[in-house]
Amino acid sequence: MAVAVRARCVFLGAPGAGKGTQAKKVAEAASIAHISTGDMLRAQVAAGTPLGAEAKSFMDAGKLVPDQVIIAMVQARIAEPDAREAWILDGFPRTLPQAQALDGTLSGASAVSHVIYFDVPESVLVGRLTGRRTCGKCGAIWHVDNHPTKVADVCDNCGGGLVQRSDDRLEAITQRLEQYRTLTAPLLAYYRERGVLREIDANRSPSVVYEELLNLMQ
Ligand code: AMP
Repeated sequence: MAVAVRARCVFLGAPGAGKGTQAKKVAEAASIAHISTGDMLRAQVAAGTPLGAEAKSFMDAGKLVPDQVIIAMVQARIAEPDAREAWILDGFPRTLPQAQALDGTLSGASAVSHVIYFDVPESVLVGRLTGRRTCGKCGAIWHVDNHPTKVADVCDNCGGGLVQRSDDRLEAITQRLEQYRTLTAPLLAYYRERGVLREIDANRSPSVVYEELLNLMQ
């Protein structure tokens, strides 16, 4: 169902909090740009570009890709015509320098209007990440227990094969959660001070989270 959302919105939260699933759904329903730095990097890796080659070792180890690489990539993407009025940034910013660079890039009427913090206990995140599967063809996100496909490893939407992300292995997950705690969680205070932070209890079913999210994004 089409919805009216004209926000310039950052989705903030730990890996596995549901940012990608919700961003995809809201962006499709509202016909606004979904800017996922993780998806952009995975596309670069798949295409075998120099940027992809540089990013891959960081991603596979569960570490953040250096700020200057990510910032340049987002600045170019946000300048594209489809991102002029409204967008969802999913997975960016993840560090204080990234947040400051974003503020420096956007000004006045084009500044970030909403930051939504997806709150999920860490004990829940690990199970979400280890069971996550993504359709290699259409990008739909599934879960072996919480959101299974009708036929194992085959996407219900398009019939594509499901894959597990290389960084959804336990060693990389532990590192990603650590990077989140130390580098990304401080952004909550940064955005709270600026009066744009809104929080959602994302430890509920995706449909309940979606309905509340639409209200928070008004
Ligand atoms: P995601 O799909 O958002 O979980 O991102 C997957 C991986 O891409 C992360 O673990 C990082 O290695 C890298 N990445 C994505 N977004 C960023 C970012 N804003 N800053 C640094 N690295 C990022």
